[in-house]
Amino acid sequence: MRQLQGIPASPGVALGPAFRFERRTLEFPRLTDQPAEAEWTRFETAIAQVREALTQIRDRAEREIGAAEAEIFEAHLMFLDDPALLDAIRSAIEANGLNAEAAVHDATHYYAAILEGLPDPTLSARAVDVHDVGHRLKRALLNIAEDGASLTAPSVVIAHELTPSDTVMMDRRLVLAMITEVGGPTSHAAILARSYGIPAIVGVGGLIDIASATLLAVDGSAGTLVVDPDEATQLAVATRRADQQVHQAQARVRAIEPAISRDGKRVEVVANVGAVSGARIALEQGAEGIGLFRTEFLYIKRETAPDEDEQTEQYRAVIEVMGERPVIVRTLDIGGDKPLPYLDLGHEDNPFLGLRALRIGFEYPDILLAQLRAILRAGAGHCVKVMFPMVATVGEARAARAMLEQARAELIARSAPIAEQVEVGVMIEIPSAALSADRLARVVDFFSIGTNDLAQYALAADRTNARVAHIADAFHPSVLRLIRQVIEASHAAGTWTGLCGELAGEPLAVPILFGLGLDEFSMNPPAIPIAKEIVRGLTLDEARPVALAALDLDDGQAVRALVRATWPWVES
Ligand code: PEP
Ligand code: MG
Repeated sequence: MRQLQGIPASPGVALGPAFRFERRTLEFPRLTDQPAEAEWTRFETAIAQVREALTQIRDRAEREIGAAEAEIFEAHLMFLDDPALLDAIRSAIEANGLNAEAAVHDATHYYAAILEGLPDPTLSARAVDVHDVGHRLKRALLNIAEDGASLTAPSVVIAHELTPSDTVMMDRRLVLAMITEVGGPTSHAAILARSYGIPAIVGVGGLIDIASATLLAVDGSAGTLVVDPDEATQLAVATRRADQQVHQAQARVRAIEPAISRDGKRVEVVANVGAVSGARIALEQGAEGIGLFRTEFLYIKRETAPDEDEQTEQYRAVIEVMGERPVIVRTLDIGGDKPLPYLDLGHEDNPFLGLRALRIGFEYPDILLAQLRAILRAGAGHCVKVMFPMVATVGEARAARAMLEQARAELIARSAPIAEQVEVGVMIEIPSAALSADRLARVVDFFSIGTNDLAQYALAADRTNARVAHIADAFHPSVLRLIRQVIEASHAAGTWTGLCGELAGEPLAVPILFGLGLDEFSMNPPAIPIAKEIVRGLTLDEARPVALAALDLDDGQAVRALVRATWPWVES
């Protein structure tokens, strides 16, 4: 028995035989005596096949885990159309007499090497995606359909590296866990493993010595891999796995039941979605509504802004899937790291502190008014709520409400059918808003705390900069103190508070947020069944003092440790 340590990438435990996933080595001559045009035609046929295959993978990911995760494959598809890549391949074929396989190999290795050399680990991790596209193109040119052996029995997959498409395409009923030598916790494959609920560890050295069929014990939360575990370890892992499976199965069976604690406190569990496909998945997972409809998907990757009618149609599609259930539509949240080609926001030294979200709505009122009209029209006859992102001051909340009133007046003048009695909320994601929550609560009907941003602004650590992103820890007691203040301010004013940052769906955070009195938890759909099941195992009486104790700890790790020690079953 020996233990290898890696980086935890997706929680859960597993015990099973190793399956070595080895990418097929492709062999081809470098030079060809075929005419360049014939090589280029072969290449065009290959690129069409790869585009088709990647589109299918993207659609499958969208069906299974939602539009946001499926976006990963958009980047692959865009790379296939990259003029610089296509030019490099064409000139290698035409000027150097290379055959298409060698031209693809050189060009994709060149781009992957540039990415690998970047200091930002999130960007350098994207080199895997470029290699994946290159490998697929070469396979298509060589008419090789399959990439090595497929799984035939439940196994722990070990590989030098796994691409996002490997993760989507493997028979997941047979994948007990995934272990790779390279890759980081923010790699696309790791993100997908978490979405699919597969335990995963990355960055494990020494995998090369492990033969297929060797027994492995995996702890994805701790990042440990035990090779040839002794009987006691096998028993411990098998017991934990069985407990987890019971817990997860129970959570799935009860997914559509409400989340009511042992002492009768009910909380609402709703979903974060970006499109109608996500709304369907959300319903299957037991969402009681939509707590965050991210509308920016409609605005990005296009040359002009979507008009009012198009937006109305798209919003209506999501709202209708949800039937009577509440849908909170968040107005446009772009800027920061999300630029729009048709809005020149100019250069900003600090885009996250610049013209972002609601601030853009005030600067370009026609865009925000068109969106508000579309939301009001789409919500006719349904329970739709409007939420404004990036509110820093009470004045902004008032101004945003006034714009909603203006949009309503314009529609009434047109005699258009519109949603009645629309609740208006703001996201609390800037510390000033959290600190003035008592004042804001007089102006709006509800709050939804955006901990992804609140943590980055409270701890002054850019969430998109991999070197400091870990500092923006939403479990940090400073963030939890802000959360408590917001919840208490809303309750004192007779309103309610939800939370739609990633924190809401973190199993370890659920007892703390429940103990702090959070009314609504909004999360990615796959997290819903477990979050509900955790609430069912708690009582407010025991959760409240632990949540308050968490506020007095030194850091996020101490908070996690406190939850693990108090409720060891929460992570199962
Ligand atoms: C947040 O900031 O927590 C949030 C939910 O919004 P986004 O992640 O879209 O910025
Ligand atoms: Mg945000």
